[in-house]
Amino acid sequence: DPVILWLRQDLRLADQPALAAAVHDGPVVPVYVLDDDTPKHRKMGAASRWWLHHSLDSLDRDLREKGSRLILRRGKCDEELAKVAEEVGAGTVHAIRHYEPWWRNAERAVAKRLDLQCHDGNYLAPPGSVVTGGGQPYKIYTPFWRALNEVMPPRHSLNRPRDIHAPGKWPGSDKLADWDLLPTKPDWATGFGKEWTPGEGGAHDRVDDFVDEVADYDERRNLPSVEGSSRLSPHLHFGEVSPGYVWHRLADKRADVFLKELAWRDYAQNVILQLPDYASKNGRERFDDLPWRTSKADLRAWQQGRTGYPIVDAGMRQLWGSGWMHNRVRMIAASFLIKHLLIDWREGEKWFWDTLVDADYGNNSVNWQWVAGTGIDANMWGRIMAPLVQSEKFDAGDYIREWVPELRDLPDEQIHDPEHRPDGYPDKIIGHREARERALAAGRKVR
Ligand code: FAD
Repeated sequence: DPVILWLRQDLRLADQPALAAAVHDGPVVPVYVLDDDTPKHRKMGAASRWWLHHSLDSLDRDLREKGSRLILRRGKCDEELAKVAEEVGAGTVHAIRHYEPWWRNAERAVAKRLDLQCHDGNYLAPPGSVVTGGGQPYKIYTPFWRALNEVMPPRHSLNRPRDIHAPGKWPGSDKLADWDLLPTKPDWATGFGKEWTPGEGGAHDRVDDFVDEVADYDERRNLPSVEGSSRLSPHLHFGEVSPGYVWHRLADKRADVFLKELAWRDYAQNVILQLPDYASKNGRERFDDLPWRTSKADLRAWQQGRTGYPIVDAGMRQLWGSGWMHNRVRMIAASFLIKHLLIDWREGEKWFWDTLVDADYGNNSVNWQWVAGTGIDANMWGRIMAPLVQSEKFDAGDYIREWVPELRDLPDEQIHDPEHRPDGYPDKIIGHREARERALAAGRKVR
């Protein structure tokens, strides 16, 4: 009998254990279900949909080269998979396991109707498997990293099946273009295509390029003006390349600092497995009393990159224009929203969710709570990043010139904090010292 391969954030053929198991079992029906019901308000954001469109398109082409194809269905995962199973006479579904709370619900629902076989494959070690000596999950990153290291290197095999046997008849499939995943009026994603090549081929090209650059990663990754990091995040989120493969390609390149960053991805899954509501609930409950401000105007100024702080504005415009933001600038921009504007970190998390091509439930919520200092790991409300100092320290001049054209002609001494604002560039939304004092005062209310 044919078996179903249920694809989600694992859109690849190489090192794909669910695909390998399916190929072993019989003819394969690869299915992607666009399910906006199961995740409810957590349905995929707009920038991710742009990525998804191109990634599915690429996967279908790769499958066709192997004699297969991708079946597209829209609706609730369990219902659609059950319908496909009936159409082709399948009983078994192979899938890679995912840890977002809605995917865990969907897996339970599918398992009620069909024989669901879940495989590990999207993390260095299966989330939940790296625990303390007493069997407890880790709360803090560094001990987690040490324990993870002990079970490294991860299992992986770059094998891709040579052929993927087709079933006697294919079930019905939607047309990708009918899903309207791409923006139309206005098309805000015109800049995305210049930066990104979604799909497994694009992911492997990135890895190949990065192998030659990783030696400079420690020095360059914090500099927004240069391409010092791998830019693998959307590829990893959509599972176009396995982290095990990335680890193996880099492990003997003295890439320790990079591997330690890669492991943050695993750590974040470990957190949302313990605390599935991490994107909506403070890790430390006492922060529920924090007196947040609500200012639609300030939130909009931040979203649009019009705060009058060049480094923050450059970051927010890079996000809008390319679907991605440099990690150092993510920290600065997030800290600015939370501490300088005193706006609830959840507003920022939501905006990132909608605008990042690498939007990832675990990574996004863990990093927002880390910057806020509300999380289970660090307790750092009092750490307030000074955007102007950061901008100078990490030499962000060219980055600002690229993303904030109003400031393009300013010399280095002026670019981080222009004395005279060129036409069209706003004054600071709030002074740094005033903002800092207000944030510290708010923090005292939750002690
Ligand atoms: P590299 O430095 O080359 O790192 C390699 C890989 O390691 C990344 O692709 C990513 O998968 C992982 N990684 C690196 N840093 C982190 C980190 N701090 N946390 C978790 N994983 C990490 N990353 C996302 O993938 N999705 C998100 O939604 C996301 N939201 C963030 C929100 C905020 C406020 C902050 C401060 C960070 C966020 N990050 C998120 C983490 C980090 O900024 C990105 O993973 C990184 O910038 C991606 O660029 P890169 O692939 O070049 O990273």
